Amino acid sequence: LYEHVTRIEKMEIVNHVASSFTHEIRNPITTVKGFLQLMKRPELKRQELDNYISIAINEVDRAEKIITEYLSFTKPTNENLYVIEGEQVLQNSVDVIRPLANSNCVDIKYKDLPFLVKANKQKLQQALINLFKNAIEAMPDGGDLFISVMPHGSMVKIMIKDTGVGMTVDQVSRLGEPYFSMKGEKGTGLGMMVVYNIIGAMGGTINVVSELGKGTTFILTLPTSSQLDEGETK
Ligand code: ADP
Ligand code: MG
Repeated sequence: LYEHVTRIEKMEIVNHVASSFTHEIRNPITTVKGFLQLMKRPELKRQELDNYISIAINEVDRAEKIITEYLSFTKPTNENLYVIEGEQVLQNSVDVIRPLANSNCVDIKYKDLPFLVKANKQKLQQALINLFKNAIEAMPDGGDLFISVMPHGSMVKIMIKDTGVGMTVDQVSRLGEPYFSMKGEKGTGLGMMVVYNIIGAMGGTINVVSELGKGTTFILTLPTSSQLDEGETK
């Protein structure tokens, strides 16, 4: 058992990768276009056609995955941060991920507690969804996903704990590194990079406690406030 604290150098790599996003999406589109053109050939055999179609679908799936994980991803900025009701963002994120949890036999244990957080709603939700998704994917035979909130002085801690496969020390240290993935074709290796980026821009930190075969806990420490910003509650 060990703890890993976010290193700031990761933020620099992230800036670099943000600019290669266009490239990441253009590649699969170009591939699909090429295969669509091949499909127009009249002498095409049924088997070849099926083959081209499945390649095209795979490429579109990949582009879709990348877009999903990047959804609200832009350059790190502390603009557009407001004091918002954190439990609403947590509840929304839980609602979004519940179907995936259900189909993976993962039980979500979330006790909501009102708390305020200084954040951008969409981005915080994106970060939470990426973390929940990883937790669920780490439990291929089902398990529990515990989500809890704890006040911590001028900060608030959000704990996301799974009973999944866990990580080695090396894997934990590579979290947030662009394209680091243990999921082969199924992974993008971009989800955690986006998480580190968003939480970093909010002035938050991420701690990771993981044990191979036992599970992983992500602890987000985020800036809070005693007062809601006006007009940002709706
Ligand atoms: P992806 O999910 O596409 O592989 P991520 O950046 O979201 O990319 O995650 C990178 C890697 O970190 C994953 O492939 C996995 O090996 C590891 N990881 C992230 N979260 C967890 C977790 N909760 N439990 C175990 N491993 C995890
Ligand atoms: Mg992921």
